[in-house]
Amino acid sequence: MTDQKVPFVDFSPGEGTLASEIKNAVARVIERGWFILGPEGEAFEREFASFIGTTHAVGVACGTEALSLALTAVGIGPGDEVITSPLTATFTALAISRTGARPVFADVDGETLNLSEKSVTDRLSSRTKALVPVHLYGNPCDLPALQNLARKESLFLVEDACQAHGAKLDGRPLGSWGVAGCFSFYPTKNLGAIGDGGMIVTDDPQIAERLRRLRNGGQVTRYVHEEIGFNSRLDEIQAAVLRAKLPRLAGWNRRRRELAEIYRRRLEETPVRMVGMLPGSESSVHLFVVRVVDRDHLREALTASGIQTLIHYPIPAHLQPAYQSLGQGEGTCPTAEQAAREILSLPCYPDLGESDVERVTEAICSFYR
Ligand SMILES: *Cc1c(COP(=O)(O)O)cnc(C)c1O
Repeated sequence: MTDQKVPFVDFSPGEGTLASEIKNAVARVIERGWFILGPEGEAFEREFASFIGTTHAVGVACGTEALSLALTAVGIGPGDEVITSPLTATFTALAISRTGARPVFADVDGETLNLSEKSVTDRLSSRTKALVPVHLYGNPCDLPALQNLARKESLFLVEDACQAHGAKLDGRPLGSWGVAGCFSFYPTKNLGAIGDGGMIVTDDPQIAERLRRLRNGGQVTRYVHEEIGFNSRLDEIQAAVLRAKLPRLAGWNRRRRELAEIYRRRLEETPVRMVGMLPGSESSVHLFVVRVVDRDHLREALTASGIQTLIHYPIPAHLQPAYQSLGQGEGTCPTAEQAAREILSLPCYPDLGESDVERVTEAICSFYR
């Protein structure tokens, strides 16, 4: 045993060229003295839209508000039901609740841990107005199936792509499949700001226009509030920092996929199970997650050898105290509940060395010996 540690994440830009580009970006904004809804935000919206391949992108304050603004912009509100996955950052569900609509949790697929189309079908009601699939860990949901279902049932498909910047299915970027795609730039995400930030992408000019109004208090022109909007804007400093990072994102994602591949190869002969992926998936590997029956024991052993792990997410959204009143108790999403007991996130980020991955897999192998 060495006393070398393997931390779960490391998102300090360090001392290299990226660090100085970030500092220059911040300095540029300070010197300009224009901090909200200015040239950096506009440029970043154009650059991000082009990265995802949509015609519009609208910067907002965070991923949670990207989701609630997108749902509001397509007309979701009180009296409506929105179906989503319980195995997610509970913020997905909170965003639905914020619109006044009711989140309804469908179960996940046992292999991919993403929303099961069959379970979604079972939960449809006359009040269902939208689907919010979550590309958990950056792995694509079954978008062709969900798109078909949404068309057939006249539902809005709003993607929670908060973990999936740059991920693709069948060559098409996630976030560009639904009527709107929502992203978070929380510092730990694949594309992270130095604070909060979010973005909605869409090909629909009317939705984009409504979003621009909604994020800015509902104003069409200054001091004229056409509707009861939000105050939810991506600020200039965050946009400038994100512009410095965006050109590196594809390379970072590639590196994450390489590390995931090493993990998979080295864990092949162990009792550890992988999270499955659909054919045609190009994951952003936001998190590298494995499934183990004796998760808590394995986790303790890894901690003892200096390897940090986390659980994403230990409590499915339908079992959160905040959602007791929905009455969707234990047993209503059994596959997600089972997964929540078995999942373990291993360190996986672009700066992680291959030798670190080997230390982790070695520790896992010795746990089972
Ligand atoms: C991070 C995240 C969110 C929330 O984004 P914030 O920017 O933190 O508000 C929503 N959904 C998923 C799946 C996320 O990972």
